[in-house]
Amino acid sequence: MPSNKPTLEDAHKKIKEELNKLIESHRIEHDVFYQALEEVLFSIAPLYLADEKYAKHNIIRRLANPDRIIKFKVEWMNDKNEIRVNTGYRVQFNNSLGPYKGGLRFHPSVNEGILKFLGFEQILKNALTGLPIGGGKGGSDFDPKGKSDFEVMKFCTSFMRELHKYIGPRMDVPAGDIGVGAREIGYLFAEYKRITTTFDGVLTGKPLFFGGSLGRTEATGYGVVYFTEAMLETEKKEGLEGKTCTVSGAGNVALYTIEKLYQQGAIPVTCTDSKGTIYDARGVDLEYLKDLKFNRRGSLEEYVSKHPEAIYIPVSEYPEGGHAVWNIETYAAFPCSTQNELTEIDAKNLIKNGCVSVTEGANMPSTPEAMETLLTNKVCFGPAKAANAGGVAVSNFEMSQNASMLKWTFEEVDAKLKTTMYDICQNIADTAKEYGVEGNYVDGANIAGFKKVADVMIAEGI
Ligand code: NDP
Repeated sequence: MPSNKPTLEDAHKKIKEELNKLIESHRIEHDVFYQALEEVLFSIAPLYLADEKYAKHNIIRRLANPDRIIKFKVEWMNDKNEIRVNTGYRVQFNNSLGPYKGGLRFHPSVNEGILKFLGFEQILKNALTGLPIGGGKGGSDFDPKGKSDFEVMKFCTSFMRELHKYIGPRMDVPAGDIGVGAREIGYLFAEYKRITTTFDGVLTGKPLFFGGSLGRTEATGYGVVYFTEAMLETEKKEGLEGKTCTVSGAGNVALYTIEKLYQQGAIPVTCTDSKGTIYDARGVDLEYLKDLKFNRRGSLEEYVSKHPEAIYIPVSEYPEGGHAVWNIETYAAFPCSTQNELTEIDAKNLIKNGCVSVTEGANMPSTPEAMETLLTNKVCFGPAKAANAGGVAVSNFEMSQNASMLKWTFEEVDAKLKTTMYDICQNIADTAKEYGVEGNYVDGANIAGFKKVADVMIAEGI
């Protein structure tokens, strides 16, 4: 007699119906937010099936809708005394576990869909850290590239003039992201202080000399490498020592991933920016890159004038549908620049070139097809919401230090970061095993993060 017990296919069908309803009701569009939502919801099907309370409490619909989206006009004056107008956003997605927490992105591509995707991912990422923080994200379509320090300061001041109404150390604590580093956080924090006359932990990633935490700048990149080591150890693969690694990006996450790789004895041979890729087979020159990107904000093109033996590949010469950086022999790959930067073609090239592990430093850098290809081919895959959670974890340490008026040493922060990353890895490996998808860190992370938030939402009621 056929069993009436619902199957995993039934759960998938139900989830698909929910997603269609969200689209029909114009709650979501077919964009990067949909991509993130679809990935998470399909992977939590075993949980949905194991306990009907999640369907009963309508958790999918409730979690897919941000608590609120704040959108505002930012007027500022450039160096030629011309008035400029940009749009600012803060998506306060979910505060079930603690104050909204997530970065600010300043980039011309910023729109509501991108910030909803990042905010949604942030809820689950923050849950995985085990720390009391909810999820949010914000930013602006302002492009800091090519602007003088004075122009960036004027923009940040105007941006905070509006944002300060919606944030607070117990309410919403923004941090940096693409285009927002210590310089921008410094300007933003100073304006918050001027307006509110309070000196509190309302932003993280602050410069060291006014409330920042040692180790915060390095945290995301260092955490990505700690996570990879934990994952390789759990999967009984060789560690990173002596191995050639490929990294994309040349910003905060990429350069500190490269730094930690060197500290662990690996050889990082690549980096990329929006214009091209550097391949330096002897290992990239990190000190030069830090000066080029952090101090001079220059282009990677310049690298070859100092290191003529390195190869520079401009974007125009990338393989069709792919990226040069993923077509180089590697043991472990680290996509650390932006969303959807690793395609199915790239995934196939990585496999062909002997890649054993891929760890996402950026948020959602792999397309769904790339991820599927890597998982099917048994490449160890560390998803962003787990692997890059080190940044937000150390942001939380910064909040703790601000609240207690204490300062921890770099070694203390780094040791806590390492423990956090190993704990996250263990937790998601165990969860994957418990729900019948052993070795799948994507499903493990999604289920563990979703369950934590959903259980609190159910306990709180409506
Ligand atoms: P940065 O602004 O410091 O660096 C971003 C790098 O990526 C730059 O090298 C930039 O090139 C490149 N890049 C950005 N957009 C594109 C694009 N559309 N195409 C090609 N290259 C691009 O950002 P972060 O290093 O802070 O962030 C990188 C990623 O990591 C993002 O996905 C972010 O959300 C994620 N992340 C960051 C955390 C943090 O603590 N900073 C925490 C967790 C996740 P160029 O130099 O030419 O501008």
